[in-house]
Amino acid sequence: MNYINVIKEIFFKLNENKVLLNSLDQAIGDGDHGTNMVRGFQAVVDDAEILKDLEPKIFFQKVALILMSKIGGTSGPLVGTFFIALSKNWTGVTQTEIANAFSQGAKSLQQFGKAELGEKTMVDALNPAIDALNQNINLPIQDFFKQGYLAAENGMLKTKDMLAKKGRASYLGERSIGHIDPGAMSIKLIFEALAEVA
Ligand code: ADP
Ligand code: MG
Ligand code: MG
Repeated sequence: MNYINVIKEIFFKLNENKVLLNSLDQAIGDGDHGTNMVRGFQAVVDDAEILKDLEPKIFFQKVALILMSKIGGTSGPLVGTFFIALSKNWTGVTQTEIANAFSQGAKSLQQFGKAELGEKTMVDALNPAIDALNQNINLPIQDFFKQGYLAAENGMLKTKDMLAKKGRASYLGERSIGHIDPGAMSIKLIFEALAEVA
């Protein structure tokens, strides 16, 4: 499958859930997370014709730059950083290679955002998903991504009880507890899209 089609699936999934993402961000942030993510992935989809024939490393680099500038906010540079790392570390499409490139992506995102696990950010869905990919390299590809998705979902649900230590939600202190982190929900939706297209 062409990678642009994977990005399209991610766009559809985020777009279907734009209102949900905005309302999660309304509770503990400024209410724009869904709008931000959808605007970013929409911009990539708009450039599909230009992007579709590029070799993977260049493709991911261009996607990163579009996402970084069009998502904006706090999440734009974080998601962009993930895709830059994919671009630098993409060696092929075996499950080992995918898990490795994704691991580098998560590592870069975390280095850039400086969020530890348990601080109520996208890291709490992303890192468990990456661990699951690495632990399930030998499963058939659909199950490999399914395990990533299930781990992302579980991590996302756990953010509800966490106290936010990074980003806008951290301004709320104790009042951030009891709400799911919008960025973690986006990560869950992205892995859901991956599991559906695998
Ligand atoms: P903004 O807060 O600028 O409006 P968004 O609403 O698009 O940006 O994104 C908010 C999301 O960004 C949060 O739900 C959280 O998951 C994520 N986030 C914020 N700060 C960090 C960080 N330092 N590391 C990882 N993710 C973060
Ligand atoms: Mg926001
Ligand atoms: Mg904002």
